Amino acid sequence: MSDCIFCKIAAGEMGVKFLYETDTLVAFRDINPQAPTHVLVIPKKHIAKISDLSGEDIALVGEMVAAGNRIAATEKIAEDGYRLVFNCGRHGGQEVFHIHLHLLGGRPMNWPPG
Ligand code: 5GP
Ligand code: ZN
Repeated sequence: MSDCIFCKIAAGEMGVKFLYETDTLVAFRDINPQAPTHVLVIPKKHIAKISDLSGEDIALVGEMVAAGNRIAATEKIAEDGYRLVFNCGRHGGQEVFHIHLHLLGGRPMNWPPG
């Protein structure tokens, strides 16, 4: 999608540094971090909401989670623990409508979330 900021980032058009990249996804630091480590893992393919997920894209989300785990290890937050989050829709707090997995860590997380 030409007007999607995350499609542009994934295409390398925004000069954003990738922490990790595969044929299907990229990961980069959140511009407004909510924790010492705050990384976004996004598919190169445009999918607007996690609730739109179907068919072959279901496996893609497994790849995203595996990437989050891998980055947690390289960020050295794996042992203490971390949070992986998909926000979906208005009440879920989704602001960018291209699915993304938040990897948050480096401090204790609160529960319930705000
Ligand atoms: P959401 O609320 O949709 O789950 O999360 C969107 C996230 O994307 C927010 O944490 C926001 O800070 C981040 N974000 C939005 N635009 C950009 C951008 O241009 N670059 C980066 N690195 N992060 C962004
Ligand atoms: Zn997109």
